[in-house]
Amino acid sequence: MNKKITVIKGDGIGPEIVTQAQVVLDKVCEKFGHTFEYTDILMGGCSIDACGVPLTDEAVATAKAADAVLLGAIGGNTSTSPWYKLEPSLRPEAGLLKIRKELGLFANLRPALLYDELKDACPLREEVADKGFDMMMMRELTGGLYFGKRETKTVDGVETAIDTLEYNENEIRRIAIKGFDIAMKRRKKVTSVDKANVLDSSRLWRKVVNEVAKDYPEVELEHMLVDNCAMQLVRDPAQFDVVLTENMFGDILSDEAAMVSGSLGMLASASLNETKFGMYEPSHGSAPDIAGKDLANPIATIISAAMMLRFSFDMDKEADAIESAVKQVLKEGYRTGDIMSEGMKKVGCKEMGALIAERI
Ligand code: NAD
Repeated sequence: MNKKITVIKGDGIGPEIVTQAQVVLDKVCEKFGHTFEYTDILMGGCSIDACGVPLTDEAVATAKAADAVLLGAIGGNTSTSPWYKLEPSLRPEAGLLKIRKELGLFANLRPALLYDELKDACPLREEVADKGFDMMMMRELTGGLYFGKRETKTVDGVETAIDTLEYNENEIRRIAIKGFDIAMKRRKKVTSVDKANVLDSSRLWRKVVNEVAKDYPEVELEHMLVDNCAMQLVRDPAQFDVVLTENMFGDILSDEAAMVSGSLGMLASASLNETKFGMYEPSHGSAPDIAGKDLANPIATIISAAMMLRFSFDMDKEADAIESAVKQVLKEGYRTGDIMSEGMKKVGCKEMGALIAERI
């Protein structure tokens, strides 16, 4: 298969980690007979320096013409970098907001899994960590409370703030379909999280999710209230497969799920639109403190590339091969500095990429 990938290396450790993800992808091509055509675009601080804006319209057009986007990270040191003296719409992060909007990315996916070898980094009780967990947090990204009408006004002499939580059935249906499609590629269970005992938007959410579920008879569906879900994530995370939820609940729960799985350098993410198109990136930032020193952990980016193969290209075998190679390297005791523990073999970003590629 031939696929076009727009590559955004970005700032800080971005170029180092994306290069290693490409080393791994090239090995996948060689092994499975595919070709990936990469086109680089600038976004973030490097685009400000070169073009005066964090993302040009030409760069957006290039991204739109691809089958998927692979992103490293953008931004610099927010206290010292001159990029942060610019007005907010010209800062690095404005590029990220613009590309998400232009590409219509409404579904955010964050896998949260505990690698056997990294159990020590899990802050949960030993017996909970020992059971392990492997879930996909799926969050609606463009609706709900963060995008509703808001105002602050004085009502009868009292300062009053109003935020509006609004969802229509189409917004719910499209993310529910994504959630069930992804569950079909996993353990076939969806936990839909809402607050249907209080909120109208949650009652509509539940109704539409139930309707969509009828098209997926093989997938087990359960509904869970958000407060219960927050507790269950620390009590028994092994029960979850796909966790499907709206924007604000997802914002909070996906950080909770990330925290229980340990290091930032291991956390991948994807944002999808209505088609197979997606943007794939690690959950961490550009780590300017370690940039250019070959210290970064490339695994979150490499796992993000595996997600790209699975969800945008339907290359499940190839994605499995990358994920198994990552597990194998961890099993053999190789660690970057951020996940280093006693008795393990410390390697840099480049060597970690090469070790994973060798095991594909
Ligand atoms: P960060 O995630 O970049 O770094 C936090 C800490 O984790 C640092 O000590 C860093 O060295 C470490 N770290 C992060 N990723 C690592 C990796 N792969 N390997 C080893 N260690 C790693 O967060 P920050 O320092 O708050 O932000 C730095 C910059 O990144 C800021 O400009 C911020 O706006 C930006 N940022 C960008 C994105 C993105 O591009 N999507 C996301 C978050 C933050």
